[in-house]
Amino acid sequence: MTGNDANLFAAKTTLLRLPRRGTGFGGVPAVGHPAPDQAIAPVMPLPRHPATAPLRVDVVGGGPVGLTFACTLRAMMGDQVAIRVHDPRWHRRNGRVLWRERAEGNTRREQVVTLQSNVWSNLPEKVKRRLFTEGRFGEMWPLGPDSPAERGRPRNLKIRWIEDCLLDMAQDVYGIELRAEAYEVPEKWDGTHVVAICDGARSRTREALKDDFGTPDRDFYSINGEPLEETVLGIRVRSHLPDEFTVPLTVSQNRFLFNSLGGGFINMRLTAEEASEIVAIGENGPVECIERYSCTLRPLGDRFVCDRHLSTFKPSIDPLSFLWPRIMDGIRFFGASPSDFLSLTSFKLGMRQHSRFTAQLAPGTWGFLLGDAANSLHFWPGRGLNTGVKSAQSLATTLRERWQGKAFRSSDFSSHEGTMQQLQYREKSRAWTTMVMPDENGAPRGIEDRVRDGLEGPFDRQALTAELWNRVRDVKARLAPRMGHLPNDQWYLDKINGLHVKTLKVMVETGPWITREIGGDEISVNVEFPEPSRRDLPLTHLRATSLAG
Ligand SMILES: Cc1cc2nc3c(=O)[nH]c(=O)nc-3n(C[C@H](O)[C@H](O)[C@H](O)COP(=O)(O)OP(=O)(O)OC[C@H]3O[C@@H](n4cnc5c(N)ncnc54)[C@H](O)[C@@H]3O)c2cc1C
Repeated sequence: MTGNDANLFAAKTTLLRLPRRGTGFGGVPAVGHPAPDQAIAPVMPLPRHPATAPLRVDVVGGGPVGLTFACTLRAMMGDQVAIRVHDPRWHRRNGRVLWRERAEGNTRREQVVTLQSNVWSNLPEKVKRRLFTEGRFGEMWPLGPDSPAERGRPRNLKIRWIEDCLLDMAQDVYGIELRAEAYEVPEKWDGTHVVAICDGARSRTREALKDDFGTPDRDFYSINGEPLEETVLGIRVRSHLPDEFTVPLTVSQNRFLFNSLGGGFINMRLTAEEASEIVAIGENGPVECIERYSCTLRPLGDRFVCDRHLSTFKPSIDPLSFLWPRIMDGIRFFGASPSDFLSLTSFKLGMRQHSRFTAQLAPGTWGFLLGDAANSLHFWPGRGLNTGVKSAQSLATTLRERWQGKAFRSSDFSSHEGTMQQLQYREKSRAWTTMVMPDENGAPRGIEDRVRDGLEGPFDRQALTAELWNRVRDVKARLAPRMGHLPNDQWYLDKINGLHVKTLKVMVETGPWITREIGGDEISVNVEFPEPSRRDLPLTHLRATSLAG
């Protein structure tokens, strides 16, 4: 945003108050930054401080955290807040803001995330109704401190579905201004009270504001002076197995993680040597593609091809590839055949420690790091989005409680900053444990070393089979009372017997999930919506009104 834009932002917020429309939501005029061709959305009920000027909020990044934050804040504060969200992955077509698709240079994320019930139950009611549509989510196990029985079980959703729902709701229900462009840090902050920085793990905005937030420290998450970074393959398949069948297979080892929602997604942890095989080649040799930009490659004839760079995944055509047979082994293990292999991507995972998440950017303007921009975590324990949404809920609650129409003071954010520090400690400790993987004596034995040991002989097939089968049987016995119908023992034994002995040994060496070490108390965020939102009209009515408006 340039200085001029910022002035415009301020001016629009005060001048562009829309005329009263009999919307059925208290007749309160919408405040926002509607673009000329933007459908005007219904407004939210009047909240606690009717006489105060609206809080002006810029949200950088319209991923799941940025949009959750924007929708939650608007649900809490109604017309006492004016929000605009920026994201270059969108474009505007026929008056609507939509996600760019593959042909337009955007790779949508296909992965599935598990939301804990402490997190999903704190979403605005209308968001919950839309998000948890039959067939779009799966109920998971187990209950625990972050998914207590009274709030329900954890739920699996596709990131793509979360983003689609939230983007629709931001424009149709919450009247949020959406800007289909990258955010630029302005020279002056005129008129902006809050900048919520949600532009992901590689946040450019955080980088531009490092004088305010400090430089993140990688030394915390290093071994022998080297920052620990893992490479993971993301493999989409068409599998016909439900979660009940595969959970014992997933939990008994740490090489593959399978999620059945939407057909099936397998994550595979690699050694550095395996990761060095992740190369895409074009007509004239290697091309910067999957290893640099995490591109998604899909089958084309006998090879896997990136439709953006027109390059081929080398292991898929290299008869000497060491990695390719290991990938295929994982696919078969989770009930898919080579023709069910739909796509492939890769990503790197490392962590950094942040000194602060809240900073005063100028008199009257405060910046906040949220989501992956604040805490980018290893995904194996499945907490990245949960942590991001908690950070968004904490800030939204704080802003609602503290906004009095006057400049904020640093003390207003003590509690929010404390929550962010607690989240950082809890979640990064958990993720770090998953990365260094303590052995039975508590000594770190990193996942890479374990995989490497597994790939080397000697291979005693009988002993390895017995060890993995014992684990599967234990998990199966523990889960049977809580899950639906599980297959018989022979089904699991056949799966183990079908593994290549190298893959079998890797599974044994990587150990079962370290549930005890990463379990324990969780950080909770108190979220309260003002009274009127409980009286909100049903979503169907809201959407109809919006379209009519
Ligand atoms: C394989 C895998 C499995 C996972 N499983 C789980 C799980 O089970 N549970 C869980 O809780 N989490 C999980 N996670 C983590 C989760 O996906 C992330 O934590 C979450 O997507 C972060 O959301 P975000 O909105 O903070 O960032 P992002 O999703 O990265 O969104 C950032 C947004 O900012 C935009 N942006 C970038 N630059 C700019 C700019 N200059 N201006 C404006 N916008 C910008 C981008 O276009 C993007 O839309 C998993 C992650 C992976 C990779």
